[in-house]
Amino acid sequence: LTSGLESAWNKLKGEEVLTKENIVEPMRDIRRALLEADVSLPVVRRFVQSVSDQAIGIGVIRGVKPDQQLVKIVHDELVKLMGGEVSELVFAKSAPTVILLAGLQGVGKTTVCAKLANYLKKQGKSCMLIAGDVYRPAAIDQLVILGEQVGVPVYTEGTDVKPSEIARKGLAEAKKKNIDVAIVDTAGRLQIDKGMMDELKDVKRVLNPTEVLLVVDAMTGQEAAALVTTFNLEIGITGAILTKLDGDSRGGAALSVKEVSGKPIKLVGRGERMEDLEPFYPNRMAGRILGMGDVLSFVEKAQEVMRQEDAEELQQKIMSANFDFNDFLKQTRAVAKMGSMTRVIGMIPGMAKVTPAQIRDAEKNLKIMEAMIEVMTPEEREKPELLAESPERRKRVAQASGKTEQQVSQLVAQLFQMRVRMKNLMGVMEGGSIPSLSN
Ligand code: GDP
Ligand code: MG
Repeated sequence: LTSGLESAWNKLKGEEVLTKENIVEPMRDIRRALLEADVSLPVVRRFVQSVSDQAIGIGVIRGVKPDQQLVKIVHDELVKLMGGEVSELVFAKSAPTVILLAGLQGVGKTTVCAKLANYLKKQGKSCMLIAGDVYRPAAIDQLVILGEQVGVPVYTEGTDVKPSEIARKGLAEAKKKNIDVAIVDTAGRLQIDKGMMDELKDVKRVLNPTEVLLVVDAMTGQEAAALVTTFNLEIGITGAILTKLDGDSRGGAALSVKEVSGKPIKLVGRGERMEDLEPFYPNRMAGRILGMGDVLSFVEKAQEVMRQEDAEELQQKIMSANFDFNDFLKQTRAVAKMGSMTRVIGMIPGMAKVTPAQIRDAEKNLKIMEAMIEVMTPEEREKPELLAESPERRKRVAQASGKTEQQVSQLVAQLFQMRVRMKNLMGVMEGGSIPSLSN
């Protein structure tokens, strides 16, 4: 996949701009690369269409070459294809949260049970495993051993008890013990068959689980799409876990899951150790597919270019004391966007966490400000002085936006504060006083 995509970029070397004509060949490479990576044909078609549309419309960005532009578009489209953001596990409002694992034989369900318990334990949640695979005594033993290894209780019955019965009793036990999360292992078959589906349906009915996660082997390739679709239609899943990503899998499975089922990949397994389970980051997966180094350096470069352009523009604005409400809105929106980015960054160990409440607050504030700026006349947006000088104008803005006059005054004051702060930042110190509002 990576080398196939590389040949796509290479075909654009020396071009000045992306055109309908010069992307034909690269798009053919991308199409072939995705198909070779076992991405299903309908998904590839949509993908290629969307990338082509964007590529043709994008125009020239200073400092960014067409091949880099295309890498960026493909990267972002890959991320989008895989669901965009990290999809977190959902927990029930009242404990226990029940997580039901399903999937074919040998994909790593039993291993995931223990890994998941280990993972949740680290987040301070108490877990219990329920051994719902009754077809082989060895399967129960395996779960018991893994449970011991991660220090989590395992609920078992004999092999003569029906899985739905085990599920019911196990759940009752978890409730009794005030367990936070009950994770239920089930039996898989080599292929999808009615017996397995019926059994899963029974178990699901008894448990009413918060999460039904389909465990998929990353080596599955194109079949993954059919698998996810069938399980989703038959029993209804809430997401998937991709295992064995440590092998030399080609990533095709990761690409199709969200697109065909609408359900996200939530976690990935990358090894046989109990620690080898982590959230699924569409961003990183896209990077891995594209060949990490290329993309990262590209993205960094592109960002640098954009920062430089922004900074230059901003500096000019400030020099001419022109920083207005339009810029204000742009700035604030950028900051809000960074807020949702920090949510992802917060998952990296050692980085400060931004709480969802903080993000919600910031977003709420932005909405209020937007409402007020929206009802300003173009003139007022460009000349905030008009509002500073005229209580009548502030009153009008307040009434039209449904906010208080005080809120409008605050917004105006904030803008001037921002002018000053930016002047200071740029080392342009003269004229840095905040005009007071006249009443
Ligand atoms: P189940 O039949 O779905 O319950 O699958 P198991 O949990 O018994 O796993 C089958 C085999 O795959 C075992 O040998 C596991 O050690 C191995 N396995 C599971 N997850 C991973 C993984 O993420 N990476 C690798 N390399 N092996 C795995
Ligand atoms: Mg098993």
